[in-house]
Amino acid sequence: MYNKDNKKRAHAIALFSGGLDSALAVLLMLRQNIEVTALTFMTHFGCDLGDRSSCGSNPYPAAEKFGFNVKLMHLGQKFVDIVVNPKYGRGKNMNMCVDCRILMLREARDLMEMINADFVITGEVVGQRPMSQVRHRMNLVEKESNLRGKLLRPLSAKLLPPTEPELSGLVNRELLEGIQGRSRKRQLELAKEFGLEDYPSPASGCLLTDKGYSNRLRDLISHSQRLTFDDLNLLRAGRHFRLDEQTKIIVGRNEADNNAILAQKQEYHGMLEALDIGSPITLLIGNQTEENIYKAAAITARYSSAREMPNVCVTYFYNGTQKEYHVAPAADEEIQQYRIQ
Ligand code: SF4
Repeated sequence: MYNKDNKKRAHAIALFSGGLDSALAVLLMLRQNIEVTALTFMTHFGCDLGDRSSCGSNPYPAAEKFGFNVKLMHLGQKFVDIVVNPKYGRGKNMNMCVDCRILMLREARDLMEMINADFVITGEVVGQRPMSQVRHRMNLVEKESNLRGKLLRPLSAKLLPPTEPELSGLVNRELLEGIQGRSRKRQLELAKEFGLEDYPSPASGCLLTDKGYSNRLRDLISHSQRLTFDDLNLLRAGRHFRLDEQTKIIVGRNEADNNAILAQKQEYHGMLEALDIGSPITLLIGNQTEENIYKAAAITARYSSAREMPNVCVTYFYNGTQKEYHVAPAADEEIQQYRIQ
């Protein structure tokens, strides 16, 4: 595509979460009449379209309003592999933001080469996030993703060495920003200037930054030879308890959890429920021994509406059969020894 003056119109690939910073990075390009193809990633660890974390929201309203293309890409197993074995370590929880950025940028570079775009942009701001946005890590990410000279961070560009598109005149460096640190003052000014109104609040990352989720994931990794997507999906719902090295249970906390658990249930899972009263759905994953079924039944009873009763009838379903267990609800001290939290 060409400009009015018959010069090739520059084309950028944007890492686009839908958060404020990545949206502003795109808008700073559009302001210079640069074509933008935005790449929105999905993983098994949150940042879903429609969630309101800073690392994921629906990209389409902004794309429609401001006029740029969006491509969705699920990182699937590639992402799971770096979650299990990150090369550059983790943040406070299971998040491995440096490896994550490298993977996303490699995908962006592949797309850039495939569609003959000129460079890649991100909404990164120097000094904003401790793990991935300090300068030496930003340099590392650029090198490891093979994007030397072709990775532009429009929000902090004036603080960084000029990139190839700036040096060649595809991008006017004067129209870029020099933002650093955690304050969002300048970003909010820019949002107003551009008429950008709907963006998620900052701070939260994907599920890997959540302490409880990270503990459940750590437990799963240390007890599995290979992570399956089904196991990962189940980490999002319910209270989790480890009964032995091969066995855990998941107990729904509310109707949404119960529905999510039922949707993920496999035929090799046992399931428990105290019928006809308010009861969680419990999945028994692993060894279906009498000892484990009794423990799972007692914990199910503890979270049912009959928790004050001396005896509760809990039904166990497995492989097309069902059986009733009459149990005393588990005491809180007993539950704590199994809880993964
Ligand atoms: S919080 Fe870190 S690991 Fe999670 S999506 Fe964002 S950069 Fe990747």
